[in-house]
Amino acid sequence: MAARILEGPPIAERIKTQLKAQISELAAIRPPRLTAILVGDNPGSKFYAKSQQKDCEELGIGYQLRELPDDIAQAELLEMLSELNADAAVTGIILLVPVPKHLNARLLQAAIAPEKDVDGVHPANLGCVVRADRTLAPCTAQAAVAVIEEAGVELKGAEVVIVGHSEIVGKPTALLLMESLATVTVCHIETRDTAAHCRTADIVISAAGVPGLVKADWIKPGALVVDVGINRVKSEDGKSRVVGDVDPAVVDVAGILTPVPGGVGCVTAAMLMKNTVAAAALQARLSA
Ligand code: NAD
Repeated sequence: MAARILEGPPIAERIKTQLKAQISELAAIRPPRLTAILVGDNPGSKFYAKSQQKDCEELGIGYQLRELPDDIAQAELLEMLSELNADAAVTGIILLVPVPKHLNARLLQAAIAPEKDVDGVHPANLGCVVRADRTLAPCTAQAAVAVIEEAGVELKGAEVVIVGHSEIVGKPTALLLMESLATVTVCHIETRDTAAHCRTADIVISAAGVPGLVKADWIKPGALVVDVGINRVKSEDGKSRVVGDVDPAVVDVAGILTPVPGGVGCVTAAMLMKNTVAAAALQARLSA
């Protein structure tokens, strides 16, 4: 029997709807306002900026996109971040990545005030994840957890395999799932037999960035498969399209499967809105 397809948009809509009351409460105290920084003209980042702006407009959150030349110096960006950190009207800051090679994204992200870091990439916020504090956890990790909760699969005692160990997806997702008492295995490029690990899993989460990596014979029948991958590939007709990490044949083996596009990506975008509201609320509390 083909897997149930777990669509992201209804989950994303629910998350955004739940934010509306909090946004109106904050309007009089600390209205959420997000500033996004785009260095250069990476088409992927431009696409994300557009979608962030649309989500912010829908929710009545202020949004400013700062578009900067691709030869901007690290020092100038650090100066700008310090001004944004000090500006009480700016409650959220996100640096769109990737940035040009001469810039150090990690240092720049660490220069964002932790209480304004809506992407959840500041070392302090990543550290909070170790303590099970999701307030400003990385958006994709929160999205992966939300999708599993929506699927209704019991996490306590479940065997979860995550393919990918990046700082923004694999590692924080593993930590959040451990908090729910799942047994988590994290595979990566040097894992000797990723397929064998996946075959034991009740839940497979793939965030490797490799189209078609997760094959049907890697999946235990009935397992939940969460495809985090967003990979642009060229079709035979020369057009480019977005695919995940999971081979299409997995649909015949898995019990529940998230699609790409239309899966985890939409939920991640909603989590950015959730973090933006959480950041404003946190600053309202800190200044009370
Ligand atoms: P990354 O390049 O930082 O990390 C990739 C990880 O996958 C690494 O741990 C690497 O060791 C592992 N890996 C690569 N090839 C592998 C293989 N053959 N076998 C086992 N492990 C392998 O990437 P990232 O930033 O974590 O993103 C991963 C994917 O998730 C990309 O497709 C990205 O576009 C996507 N992504 C999606 C969302 C979303 O909201 N859905 C958000 C962020 C990233």
